[in-house]
Amino acid sequence: MSKRDDARKAAHKLARKTGWSVDDFEAKSPIEKLQELDAKDRSKDTYEDSEACAECAKAREESGDETALCQEHLAAAMGF
Ligand SMILES: [Zn+2]
Repeated sequence: MSKRDDARKAAHKLARKTGWSVDDFEAKSPIEKLQELDAKDRSKDTYEDSEACAECAKAREESGDETALCQEHLAAAMGF
């Protein structure tokens, strides 16, 4: 079973738990993107977004890791 399937299952589980309409939820782009794009594509978009982010710049500086991201962009990179 792929991670993508796990994410899909988790989304369904969450939707049931919160009473969201799964159909509406899945019609919206973040989940569709999550299903369609692989992690590399998501990361690429996120790194482009994060270029102008001061928090990301700070995270890179502090960690010495030039791929470091602030919490917000890290979450985005993970598909949230
Ligand atoms: Zn950032």
